[in-house]
Amino acid sequence: MSAAALHRPALRPNSAQASMAPMRPQVLNPLFGSLTSLPGVGPKLEKLYARLLDHEAPRVVDLLLHLPSGVIDRRARPKLRDVQPGQVVTVAVTIGKHRPGPPRRSRAPYRVYASDDTGDITLTYFNPRRDYLEKLLPEGEMRYVSGTAEFYDGMLQMVHPDRVVDEAGFSALPLVEPVYPLTEGLALGNVRRAVDSALARLPDLPEWQDEAWVARERFPSFAVALRHLHRPAEPHDIFPENPAWTRLAYDELLAGQLALALVRAHMRRQAGRGSASEGRLRARILKALPYALTHSQQKAVDDIITDLARPQRMLRLLQGDVGSGKTVVALTAAAAVIEAGRQAAFMAPTEILARQHLTTITPLAEAAGIRVAILTGRERGPARKEILDRLTLGDIDLLIGTHALFQEDVAFHDLALAVVDEQHRFGVHQRLALTQKGEAVDVLVLTATPIPRTLVLTYFGDMDISELREKPPGRQRIDTRTIPLSRLEEVEDAVGRALAEGKRAYWVCPLVDESEKIDLAAAQARFEELRKKFGDRIDLVHGRMKGADKDAAMARFAAGETQVLVATTVIEVGVDVPEATIMVIEHAERFGLAQLHQLRGRIGRGSGASTCLLLYKAPLGETAKARLAILRETEDGFRIAEEDLRLRGEGDVLGTRQSGMPGFQIARPEVHGKYLGAARDDAALILSRDGTLSTPRGEALRQLLYLFGKDEAIKLIRAG
Ligand code: ADP
Ligand code: MG
Repeated sequence: MSAAALHRPALRPNSAQASMAPMRPQVLNPLFGSLTSLPGVGPKLEKLYARLLDHEAPRVVDLLLHLPSGVIDRRARPKLRDVQPGQVVTVAVTIGKHRPGPPRRSRAPYRVYASDDTGDITLTYFNPRRDYLEKLLPEGEMRYVSGTAEFYDGMLQMVHPDRVVDEAGFSALPLVEPVYPLTEGLALGNVRRAVDSALARLPDLPEWQDEAWVARERFPSFAVALRHLHRPAEPHDIFPENPAWTRLAYDELLAGQLALALVRAHMRRQAGRGSASEGRLRARILKALPYALTHSQQKAVDDIITDLARPQRMLRLLQGDVGSGKTVVALTAAAAVIEAGRQAAFMAPTEILARQHLTTITPLAEAAGIRVAILTGRERGPARKEILDRLTLGDIDLLIGTHALFQEDVAFHDLALAVVDEQHRFGVHQRLALTQKGEAVDVLVLTATPIPRTLVLTYFGDMDISELREKPPGRQRIDTRTIPLSRLEEVEDAVGRALAEGKRAYWVCPLVDESEKIDLAAAQARFEELRKKFGDRIDLVHGRMKGADKDAAMARFAAGETQVLVATTVIEVGVDVPEATIMVIEHAERFGLAQLHQLRGRIGRGSGASTCLLLYKAPLGETAKARLAILRETEDGFRIAEEDLRLRGEGDVLGTRQSGMPGFQIARPEVHGKYLGAARDDAALILSRDGTLSTPRGEALRQLLYLFGKDEAIKLIRAG
């Protein structure tokens, strides 16, 4: 069983794997058939649906959970005299003469005249089949015609009406029609028809939610909610705030929380090995430090040491703002397991950061007699082999590295602790991959982006949390200013004056495109321009540079050989040059708030007064203004994270785009986030009463897990 797969709903299992899953309840079979089993969906359309539904072999259930994004409201039924241009209307008209376009001028439209007792309308078709229109719109008869009316040459007209029906057809016509998110090549009508056939397959399912809760929230059943959303009677029926959508959102949340709780219970059960330590190594490290731990660092260390000594597995998140001193806490954790004769791994998201950790940690480790090595993509050939050999023999106590650490041929002698820095950059599955390199590996996740509690629950489940809320003493407030890009020249001059005083500055170039290549071009252009002004004192780092070159550039900057470091966002994470006191960020409005906070965290690390200049392109919208204002106001990363969540939604807070961490399909954090706590409590209560999900409600909950793609968790249920 791969717990990793469970954490990757973004890559949902294909149907072949799904069919191997044990005992999917029979009643669900119609929903797990291929979409091609629906009339009108062939292999060609299946490809389009695969893209639309983000599933390589889309199934009926995937389509059913693809909810409308809006409606077309055809309920307006004015007389022709009262029709407003641009309005979607359904009018009852008598069909008049047909006037086909002249035969050789194929671009001239085919017109059909129609009227009611108040006025006239022209129904306009381009390149129609004539016999088809003659049948659809027989002269002299009454028809209901629905579509968008416009004025053309002073005449009311409707180009290609959406619907033309007679009296009988009208009584069956849905006047509020759902609109779905589409993908290129896939027509709305096709999705609607497919959804209709899918709804027809929807079986009666038992209620998996708590009855009292359902009553209190006025939730419709799962099936009724789906029917409601796909066949709205009123436009507001599809609002996420309303009971139908909320019901499904809660289902999704509960499925997620239940799966997380099962994973957690499973991990906890794989218990076994406490790493007890007296704290000899830790004491030596602390003695070698030029400072004392802050109170919250001390508390975090105590929590972690206690966790490590216990036979249960540790799953702990160490949240601390940029510069709050997480590294040394992690190192003391590593020291504890090393003292117990075992090994630790420390995974960083970038090469630069891994090397920097090595630099910081090496003298401390030496003082404690801990054997440290580094493994990244740059260690190759014999050097790499030597590291791997020593690792397997247990001659390395602490291995620092990048994602290279969980390559397949990396084998530890006895890995006890995995420290994962800047977690949101990694997919959760990567974290798990590392933990699978040892037996019941304890996990310590460091995040520099303080994640609001609600999101921690969603993505990490019920992890234990340590927070570093205070900054190490002696830090000064960063003077943060927002300046329009039109004043770039003044900024350059000011930076020039600061350089003359011996100060050091980061200059972060804008995200142009989220494509590394184009971002790089922009950074290079800025670098060239600034070099004309500042000469040799300036350097450039970017993500496409060779690791060694990057390190060299960083090292020159750290040593003061260069004073300006022009960078793409590669310096975002973790880099530590206490002498740098100026941060210029171009096009600050394009960055996520949390990201800006991270970038700013590169300065204000030493004792000198620091300045952060956020250059923006005017004019700024209201939200953009509010976002930048928050940065001016506060350096409290927790507050910034919360505001970021409020202003931009959850994706940015977690940096989902980089890590591919899944969002929700149905639940909207801003609308349904408040239900998350309830879902978590619910999941805990369910498992405490029925840990094997074998009561009737438990059976129903298994169905819920299948429906939301969390059935991998079912395999983790403890037998009997
Ligand atoms: P982050 O939490 O961002 O990873 P680091 O661990 O890189 O922070 O620490 C930031 C800087 O603060 C480092 O230079 C580190 O040596 C220093 N530092 C850490 N803890 C303390 C402390 N208790 N007192 C003074 N300086 C500290
Ligand atoms: Mg760090």
